[in-house]
Amino acid sequence: MTPTTAQPPAYDVIVLGAGIIGVCTALHLRQRGRRVCLLDQAEPGSGTSYGNAGLIERSSVVPYAFPHDFKRILRYAFNREADVCYRLDALPGLARWLWRYWRESAPRALAAAARDMLPLIEGSIREHQPFIEAAGLERLIRQDGWIDVYRKARGLEQAAAEARALSAHGLRFEVLDAQALRAREPGVLPALRGGVHWLDPWTITAPGELVRGYAQLFEAGGGQLLTACAQRIEPTGTGWRVVAGAQAYAATDLVVALGPDSPALLEPLGYRFPLALKRGYHLHYQPRADAPALTRPICDSAGGYVLAPMRQGIRLTTGIELARPGAAPSTTQIRRAHALASHIFPLGAAIEAQPWMGRRPCLPDMRPIIGPAPRHPGLWLNFGHAHHGMTLGAVSGRLLAELMTRETPLTNPAPYRAARFL
Ligand SMILES: Cc1cc2nc3c(=O)[nH]c(=O)nc-3n(C[C@H](O)[C@H](O)[C@H](O)COP(=O)(O)OP(=O)(O)OC[C@H]3O[C@@H](n4cnc5c(N)ncnc54)[C@H](O)[C@@H]3O)c2cc1C
Repeated sequence: MTPTTAQPPAYDVIVLGAGIIGVCTALHLRQRGRRVCLLDQAEPGSGTSYGNAGLIERSSVVPYAFPHDFKRILRYAFNREADVCYRLDALPGLARWLWRYWRESAPRALAAAARDMLPLIEGSIREHQPFIEAAGLERLIRQDGWIDVYRKARGLEQAAAEARALSAHGLRFEVLDAQALRAREPGVLPALRGGVHWLDPWTITAPGELVRGYAQLFEAGGGQLLTACAQRIEPTGTGWRVVAGAQAYAATDLVVALGPDSPALLEPLGYRFPLALKRGYHLHYQPRADAPALTRPICDSAGGYVLAPMRQGIRLTTGIELARPGAAPSTTQIRRAHALASHIFPLGAAIEAQPWMGRRPCLPDMRPIIGPAPRHPGLWLNFGHAHHGMTLGAVSGRLLAELMTRETPLTNPAPYRAARFL
């Protein structure tokens, strides 16, 4: 059947993807008076943005890099760790990407990435706050930071030194010994030697609900939300058409904010972006009646997992799993993380039978793509936010909206341009 273009309404912009990135982009465009349609195959905030650890990581001023420490790489080679797991059959397909990621993680290149990401990280809370207030979502937000916890004294000393080295950024933190940590989180177990409490970040107790709340704010402000699976995008000469089954939707401008699924719609137009997907899992656990409640997220960096008090229970989120696209989810990583986590905090029974799996959309230079598609006027891109999409959603949405409406952008957009990969 030939798809029919919906007539009316005609839109100024269609935003594809109602994860945190697409919803925030749509909100910013709507605030600038554009007629905006936000299209997703599912409910807003039900993709990767649903299942993360909920940290608005204002303190994460250094991107998540490939380690250059030989001992650590050797540990990973045995593939028995909790923070990074891989499936052997995924490595050939990822080899080029990993090589590039490794090179971009060398000290000088990493410092450049951190410099480029800083304006976005600095704007993270500042840009979320007005949306949280306008949507009346304060109930989902805690403003008391999160704690990086350590099982070994050496790890704690190193983390404290690294935190002090970041003092030029004006980040607020406190180094806690074991006793101070227990005073702050009375439930933690004696295996912990202390922690670094990052005071600036905010945390979210239901990330999916926050995105849904933002989407409702967008609708209340006159935006249109559509449920449809985009199968193809096509230039029309005067704008863009999105084909979704028997329907087609037209607009002058089109934004692709499909997170991990962004490349699939762009490849037919000749764009091949090196987006790798670092999987991660979560499972909720009942709080234990015989233990004090966990009041804020704690992160065991060595184990790569976070324990975050959420609406549904204590959410255990894992580090990175590298697998082939489409490979079946595995329970290995959540089991490893749970084995470590139960030594640092008492956890009750698992709430769900199977872990949730998400895919972090990662570019090898640790910067997202935010800006115009180089060869197609009217086509705009906002994806690749890797480990920090929840953090960067509002600020990235604003930056793209400013570029599209030719306002002075909040920062120089050059580091995020798509052309760097072409
Ligand atoms: C375990 C884990 C923990 C994390 N913890 C944090 C954290 O604490 N803080 C942080 O900042 N970040 C964290 N992240 C990263 C963060 O979750 C992601 O960077 C972010 O959610 C990406 O958002 P997005 O909008 O780009 O993608 P998504 O949320 O995946 O949204 C993409 C949307 O596109 C839709 N879609 C896809 N294809 C189509 C199609 N063809 N047609 C229509 N719709 C389509 C999907 O339904 C989906 O809603 C974590 C990630 C994981 C996996």
